[in-house]
Amino acid sequence: MSDAVTLATPAGPAVLHRSNRTTLAISVLPDGTLDLVAPHDSTEADIVAKVGKRLRWIVRQRTTFADMNRDRMPLRYESGATHRYLGRQYRLKIRKGEPSGVRLIGGYFQIVTANGTPPEAEVALNAWMRSKAVDQFTSRLAQWESWCAARKLPTPRLRLLRMPKRWGSSHRDGRIYLNPELVKAPAICIDYVIAHEVCHLKHPLHDRAFFKLLDQTAPNWRAIKARLEQLQ
Ligand SMILES: [Zn+2]
Repeated sequence: MSDAVTLATPAGPAVLHRSNRTTLAISVLPDGTLDLVAPHDSTEADIVAKVGKRLRWIVRQRTTFADMNRDRMPLRYESGATHRYLGRQYRLKIRKGEPSGVRLIGGYFQIVTANGTPPEAEVALNAWMRSKAVDQFTSRLAQWESWCAARKLPTPRLRLLRMPKRWGSSHRDGRIYLNPELVKAPAICIDYVIAHEVCHLKHPLHDRAFFKLLDQTAPNWRAIKARLEQLQ
């Protein structure tokens, strides 16, 4: 490939390379850059016209990449940043004041701290998420008590545990460990992880008996698991 030049197009500036290919190749790179590889004999006017015809596709590609990049970005703790709770995105509104605390009002996390700084907001929001994780997980786990009693299984008891690569685990004595990060996922996903771990109280391994029980208790678990994996 020859040296690249910048070309003005209807989709903004593009990086244009020339090659021995016979047709124009248009790609959008993960950072949104429009990358063009054109035959040596095509004119810039031709290239610009062809890019114009693919405008909608280019915009769509950029949107997809922007969504992916946003999801991978480290969480920010400043006003306007988005954070997930129960599968929904909420923006932060941070201000300095008294008394400090976090409230979910009108689609916003309204965070008040002594100085209104990002580190303070991070501590406050993490504490809020953790307490909501306890509330959500406890009430959802309680719904399994009679199910466990009917099967002579120990009463499930919640433990929060940060696990880098897992949403949950369990112990035969009834302890159910759930990752507090799970409270950011849709409720249906939380219920699936709990069903999975509760089924382990009966069958500790991922054997046929385990999956048979899981199929009975959460018939659509495969689709929900796939959804949960997209969140990671
Ligand atoms: Zn398992």
